[in-house]
Amino acid sequence: MTDRIYLDHNATSPLHPEVRAAMDVLYGQPLNPSSIHAEGRRARAIIEDARGLIAGALNCFPGEIIFTGSATESNNLAIRGFRPERVLVSTVEHPSVLNASEALEHIPVNAQGVVRLDALEELLKSDETPALISVMLANNETGVIQPIEQIVALARQYNALVHTDAVQGLGRIPLDFSHLGVDLMTISSHKAGGPTGAAVLIVRDGLTFEPLLRGGGQESNRRAGTENVAAIAGLAKAVELAPDMIRRLNALEPKLWELEVELEALGAHIVGKAVERLPNTSCILMPEVAGSTQLMNFDLAGLAVSSGSACTSGKVGKSHVLQAMGVAEELGRTAVRVSAGWNTGPEDLIRFGEEWKKLHARLGKTKEKGLEAA
Ligand code: PLP
Repeated sequence: MTDRIYLDHNATSPLHPEVRAAMDVLYGQPLNPSSIHAEGRRARAIIEDARGLIAGALNCFPGEIIFTGSATESNNLAIRGFRPERVLVSTVEHPSVLNASEALEHIPVNAQGVVRLDALEELLKSDETPALISVMLANNETGVIQPIEQIVALARQYNALVHTDAVQGLGRIPLDFSHLGVDLMTISSHKAGGPTGAAVLIVRDGLTFEPLLRGGGQESNRRAGTENVAAIAGLAKAVELAPDMIRRLNALEPKLWELEVELEALGAHIVGKAVERLPNTSCILMPEVAGSTQLMNFDLAGLAVSSGSACTSGKVGKSHVLQAMGVAEELGRTAVRVSAGWNTGPEDLIRFGEEWKKLHARLGKTKEKGLEAA
């Protein structure tokens, strides 16, 4: 596995060595922050330090941070905890938002995958019931960034709350809770060198909600269950390292764009090409070649990438994101997502480009032969 190239950071990223070091020293210790003895107090201090660090980095108050077990939990808490009468979500959200409630209303996106503000305003106008709007900061399949500040401005006119799933933002673009102006924000670290098992929901001071998990009084009675102290320390370390990761990805971004231009010249389509995207993500369509076929070939060549439509079962289905953007189903099935991260270098992108071209030449030839024979 040593020579493999990992270009699937939007699915999960390898643990950063500094994150690992911060966690390693904690494993093996009895760390229950609710205990009153010295070990418990130490655990409490680790968690409160992490809370302070994350609040400083993301520009919110420490008391606004609730530690959860995953981004899925944070998204569910945001949507179900508030029991809003209306929930408006974009059609390109992650399933952890789309499946969080049965009674969702969908905000359409345009052909580039950006939420249609006119459609959102129509929805808000059509019913005066206060709504919760949930729109992701950046899409995991395409990297397309949403106009969150404009959504917040609109929401304020109609007395609506705004939640943003900022999972794909950490370590890719700067995150600032106060500047964005949202009421709720989901953060998780395992897409940016941090561990699974810990995530955050930031809840604007003063908002009250029903916890999803009931039990002990952890997280100020907002999320019961003994805190995952080591994972929370790792999450805080990943947040601390995020500016470095962003610098690195910004330096790599021109290489990714060069690669896109090269592949486009050979017939590729780049999804969301005309709008603002994350610096690490390309969703590339190789017409006529199924994403699953491409994936297998890249995998055999030592490259880990993802189909735009990989679902949780590990099977490749059609992508609801591409579908929402109006990409024809057949074409949508030819998508492959490349997502770089903290350990990606230009040579990795060059290798991917070489393999893409080989595959394109090989499968293209086969098709020509097929056509000749027909
Ligand atoms: N939100 C977005 C945008 C994601 O990309 C993901 C994971 O892919 C999630 C939420 C859910 O994260 P988790 O599976 O870690 O709960």
